[in-house]
Amino acid sequence: MGERWEALGAAGDNRESVPVVPGDIVHLEGECSSGTWVINAQCGYLVLYPDLLLSGTTISNSIRCMRRAVLSERFRGSESGSRQMLIGTILHDIFQQSVTNNLTQEKVQELANKIVYGQKYLKEMYHLNLKQAQIMQEVEEYLPSFFKWAEDFMHNPANQNKMQLKLSNGGKTEDVSSKIEIVDILDIEENIWSPRFGLKGKIDVTARVKIHCQSGVQSRIMPLELKSGKESNSIEHRSQVILYTLLNLERRVDPEAGFLLYLKTGTMYPVSGARMDRRELMKLRNHVAFYLTHSTYKSDVGRQKSQLAALPPVIDDSQACKHCSQMHNCFLYSRAVEQKMAGVAFPPAMVPVIDRETQHLKPSHLEYFSLWYLMLTLELQSGEHKKGYKNIWMIPALEREKAGDCVGNMIRVDEVHEISEGQYLHFFQRRNGAIPGTNLLVGDRVVVSGEEKGLLGLATGYVREVSATKVSCLLGRNLSNLSENTIFRLDHGEGDVGSGIPFENLSKLMKDSPVSERLRNLIIDFQKPHFIQHLSSVLPPKAKETVANILKGLNKPQKQAMKQVLLSKDYTLIVGMPGTGKTTTICALVRILSACGFSVLLTSFTHTAVDNVLLKLAKFKVGFLRLGRAQKVHPDIQKYTEEEICRSRSIKSVTDLEEVYNSQPVVATSCMGVNHPIFVQKQFDFCIVDEASQISQLICLGPLFCSKRFVLVGDHQQLPPLVLNAEARDLGMSESLFKRLEQNQNAVVQLTVQYRMNSKIMSLSNMLVYEGKLECGSEKVSNATVNLPNLKKLKLDLGDASKTWLKEVLDPDTPVCFLNTEKVPAPEHAEKGGISNVTEAKIVLFLTSLFIKAGCKPSDIGIISPYRHQLKTITDLMAKWKESRVEVNTVDKYQGRDKSIIIVSFVRNSIDENTQAVTPFVLFFAVSEAGRAVKDPTAVERANLLNMAKLSIKGLIESALSFGRTLDSDYPPLQQFFVVMEHCLKHGLKVRKSFLSYNKTIWGPLELVEKLYPEAEEIAASVRDLPGLKTPLGRARAWLRLALMQKKMADYLRCLIIQRDLLSEFYEYHALMMEEEGAVIVGLLVGLNVIDANLCVKGEDLDSQVGVIDFSVYLKSDDDIGGKERNVQIAAILDQKNYVEELNRQLNSTVSSLHARVDSLEKSNTKLIEELAIAKNNIIKLQEENHQLRSENTLILMKTQHHLEATKVDVEAELQTYKHSRQGLDEMYTEARRQLREEAQLRQDMENELVVQVSMKHEIELAMKLLEKDIHEKQDTLIGLRQQLDEVKAINMEMYQKLQVSEDAMKEKNEIISRLEDKTNQINATMKQLEQRLQQAEKAQMDAEAEDEKLKQEYVNKSESLQNEFSQKEKQLLQLETDLKIEKEWRQTLEDDLQKEKEIVSHLRTETQEIVNLKKEFLKLQEKNKQLKSVCEDQEAALQELASKLSE
Ligand code: SF4
Repeated sequence: MGERWEALGAAGDNRESVPVVPGDIVHLEGECSSGTWVINAQCGYLVLYPDLLLSGTTISNSIRCMRRAVLSERFRGSESGSRQMLIGTILHDIFQQSVTNNLTQEKVQELANKIVYGQKYLKEMYHLNLKQAQIMQEVEEYLPSFFKWAEDFMHNPANQNKMQLKLSNGGKTEDVSSKIEIVDILDIEENIWSPRFGLKGKIDVTARVKIHCQSGVQSRIMPLELKSGKESNSIEHRSQVILYTLLNLERRVDPEAGFLLYLKTGTMYPVSGARMDRRELMKLRNHVAFYLTHSTYKSDVGRQKSQLAALPPVIDDSQACKHCSQMHNCFLYSRAVEQKMAGVAFPPAMVPVIDRETQHLKPSHLEYFSLWYLMLTLELQSGEHKKGYKNIWMIPALEREKAGDCVGNMIRVDEVHEISEGQYLHFFQRRNGAIPGTNLLVGDRVVVSGEEKGLLGLATGYVREVSATKVSCLLGRNLSNLSENTIFRLDHGEGDVGSGIPFENLSKLMKDSPVSERLRNLIIDFQKPHFIQHLSSVLPPKAKETVANILKGLNKPQKQAMKQVLLSKDYTLIVGMPGTGKTTTICALVRILSACGFSVLLTSFTHTAVDNVLLKLAKFKVGFLRLGRAQKVHPDIQKYTEEEICRSRSIKSVTDLEEVYNSQPVVATSCMGVNHPIFVQKQFDFCIVDEASQISQLICLGPLFCSKRFVLVGDHQQLPPLVLNAEARDLGMSESLFKRLEQNQNAVVQLTVQYRMNSKIMSLSNMLVYEGKLECGSEKVSNATVNLPNLKKLKLDLGDASKTWLKEVLDPDTPVCFLNTEKVPAPEHAEKGGISNVTEAKIVLFLTSLFIKAGCKPSDIGIISPYRHQLKTITDLMAKWKESRVEVNTVDKYQGRDKSIIIVSFVRNSIDENTQAVTPFVLFFAVSEAGRAVKDPTAVERANLLNMAKLSIKGLIESALSFGRTLDSDYPPLQQFFVVMEHCLKHGLKVRKSFLSYNKTIWGPLELVEKLYPEAEEIAASVRDLPGLKTPLGRARAWLRLALMQKKMADYLRCLIIQRDLLSEFYEYHALMMEEEGAVIVGLLVGLNVIDANLCVKGEDLDSQVGVIDFSVYLKSDDDIGGKERNVQIAAILDQKNYVEELNRQLNSTVSSLHARVDSLEKSNTKLIEELAIAKNNIIKLQEENHQLRSENTLILMKTQHHLEATKVDVEAELQTYKHSRQGLDEMYTEARRQLREEAQLRQDMENELVVQVSMKHEIELAMKLLEKDIHEKQDTLIGLRQQLDEVKAINMEMYQKLQVSEDAMKEKNEIISRLEDKTNQINATMKQLEQRLQQAEKAQMDAEAEDEKLKQEYVNKSESLQNEFSQKEKQLLQLETDLKIEKEWRQTLEDDLQKEKEIVSHLRTETQEIVNLKKEFLKLQEKNKQLKSVCEDQEAALQELASKLSE
């Protein structure tokens, strides 16, 4: 892991590109020579706040707008899904699975069907209101490109065109023309965290690639970034790949390049991770990190209050802003925060836009926004310091294990099971031994990493089971492809889950929507809530009976609450004091509302609270839908979860899912779960929020957006919302929404009748908090006591001990008992994992065992502590004791739960004035009464010590008298005397902090004696000189022995006790040495001057002696027990015996731990001595080197001068390079904008072209209609002509017959008739031709209609896919133009045909005219014929007449 430094400032002109201020944490990558880091254009990076891991997407977003990148880190929900994103995700999934498994075309099609018509993306489709068929249609368009890509890059790379890659070769970077072959897919969605570069990312595909180039074949592991959108090869897309090449450095050698694959076309672009590009992107990353970490600053004036800092400037591009997902938040922040700041300028064109977009907000709303944004930011900063993922790489697993936040040294065992799509069950086992006590609980979020470098954050998920040696987790990734020898660590994943929700809710509250406006009025402007007048208007008649039945089971305040809720138009607050049946009330409320036909959203801060209500609701058979992860839900409620219902009913379509969502009127989830898609589509009639007084205002807001009315249930006298940051707390962040709205008293109902506490415990609550408002629900509750059936037996077993302090603890008639552990003593321990108190934990365990022995069920006992570390200590002790049925938990987890006995361990016992003043005690409910008259325990202790001292001194004097005056050190009563003296001197001794731990030694006051009594200097000096004495206690013991031998003990101690002001530095005011008893003991000590003691101090092990008082010494005969008073004393002594024994046990453990520490110190001391010797040698060497160096120094100085000049030139060159790269970027940006404009223009042109085409299509249709009409008319004319021709034929025939008769005369006429017949034949042929043409025209019309239909279809397709298919537009345009040309030609042909036909018609007309003329001629000929006939007849008559005349 890299080191972190605190920056002192940025160097010179780099201030612009490296936004560092003193105090910032930086990580340096580069070359370090003689303590100077060289970071320049050629090598090295400066990473600002490396523990803040930023994604590639955030950094690439910052290229166009840094402000957007910063805002999207805060308001993550605003980037929520779109149709395009969903299709992209599905395509990624299909592509990744198909390439990993090398699927055939049919299988890929099957896979696509399985994914689109499966369960995995149903929720997203429901959210976006999309149908699976629509998605499938779009997905299918991409599949051919997948196959094309696989063909080109996996199966037949030889056929592909060469690519240009920049790769290093022997230290130089060369342009290599190569063909790429994807040999193996190593990972998909590979998750990499890089605290080295402050980056994180999921690489779409990690592949082993063969690069075939002229110089040979190279094999590399390279990242592939998939893009489903337009094939742009844009700077943003390329930046992501470049950052992934950097991320790859965490796990493998530098790939130097990666690939950008556009799924729509199957085109793959190579992207080189060039040094300059990487450097520029890291600069952008540092800027984003700077803005994120410096989001507040302290004002220079006044009391150093934190203020919000300005964000990166608003860009001057209204077009880009129009499509920005962060626009609302951006303008909101500008208006509420930045417009009030001096020196923050906005692009002039944007000012009216900002004002227009925020004009719906009043000044009070803007103030609320800026205050809450500040508080949330401060809280986030505290959270980031305390929690965050950084502990995973900053603290070794072994160390984190001690705090219980991690389990290390694990290996993966058994098979990985895919429980559902994307959910893999893994089993981890400790490599050796059992898992130490851990805070990891079932349902906790967990981050799985490899202990080896570079394997951070492999996967995240949830704990499924924890046993002594195994942990099973449900993870989002399958880790089976990692080596079997990988050693894992499982870290508690506090992370920043849910940290964005309050920001999101704040942003939503400021939106210009009716729901947000209503909530702003109620919450920010305190608009009075409204109520309906009469219940009858809300209660449907058919629900009245059900409601009446439910109300029967409730008490008066509960009924009042029901009524208030039903009458409310805005909101109701229900104050649920402890034990007043909050859960019952909520359950009844839900039943009544659902009976009345209202839809209800039930939420709470914790899953436990939600499930408590649901467990009750399930009993009443009220249907509900539980949202949220099944792991977090109570086992009995899991069957109602969305997950379980979808699984059991095999839901695979959006319609079915919609049915599930709409099936129940009651929906339940935690406040954090309101990002579920159901809430986008559904609005509830009521929202009920349990534990509302413990929920932070903005988190509580979340569910309220989805309902018309809301009910908050809570009690602000209980736990307030947890706020880590003191300044945020002072600014009002701990004010819950419940407390804020409580000022509207007409909306408040109080539940005051309680069923949990007996009258004595209740009176404590009434006295301390509730001002006598609480009442007992029944006589039975009022008089209830804990049932301890085996208490008598236990007392017998305990013997005399049961008459001590335990007497009242065990008495069922004393329900509240405070035990002060200050004098035990029971000091607290502050460790990395938190604060704990081992002694207090042992006492808690001891008491628990007694209650269980007395007959209380272990499950009826609850242990509470406000400190998680203390809970861990207690749980560890319980595990050793093999008792798991007693529940050990934090206060909040016990909300609304009942136990017969609750033991609270307050932990804190510190003399440090700076710590929170918590009186050290263990508190018992239900065991003994509070406020009892307690005899001063210190007075008892003093009296007991005095008695023991008396007995001891008396015993010594008597022994001396009976065995002679000289006593040696083996003599037990003498040893006991020293032990008693030690205890007397220790009594009331103040605790001092020392280097190793807390120190409580009597050597301090004894050392004081030599200052007050010069004669004592000698023994003090001898004690200090005594070899082998290591501890102050050992010295004190030696001092006491020497003082006794000197017969000066009484004198020394007397001079001490008369200087009480000096003694008070060492002793508490109630200590034995400060009180009368001390003086009495000193008086008694005078008696010891009669004895001679022969004590060898030198060889004795005084440091580690255990000072245990042996009471049997004082209970030798009945004589000693005589007298009532004596009995009382002995009882008191016995009492103390227990106490002292307990004390001794603790001392023993302290002594052994001290021994261990001393041993380790000795070892380290030896090491230090060795190191010192080495260091000395080094110093000598260094001194020699120093001389050498000095001589070289002058040389170096000269060289440095040269270097400096060279560096100046370098800096100049770097500046130039930067300017060039900047210019390049600017040009790229301008180029991209130009392309965008051109594309927009192209699109506009296309649209215009389409409009023209549509109008042309209409014209063609019109022309076709006219043509049809003409054709019909022609057909009619032709029919008429045919009839006429038939008639003409008939006439001709007649004429022909007649003309035949007059053969000779009619020869000429016959010829004319035969010509007419020829013409008639010609007309028939023309008719046939016309009929054929008509058929052709009809066919052409049908083709035109088909073409028209085709055009229509194309038009619809084009309009739908216009956005994404610009690249195809030109092609289509050409095709359309060709089509158009054909159309025009075709039309021209038609027009020509029409013209010809017109000509034929006119020709026909002419011919018809000719026929008519012929007819007229024919008639004339007939006339002539007639005349000729008559002439002929006349001539025949004349001939006949002539003949007759001739014959005559
Ligand atoms: S609205 Fe404009 S200035 Fe604001 S974040 Fe979005 S792109 Fe940047």
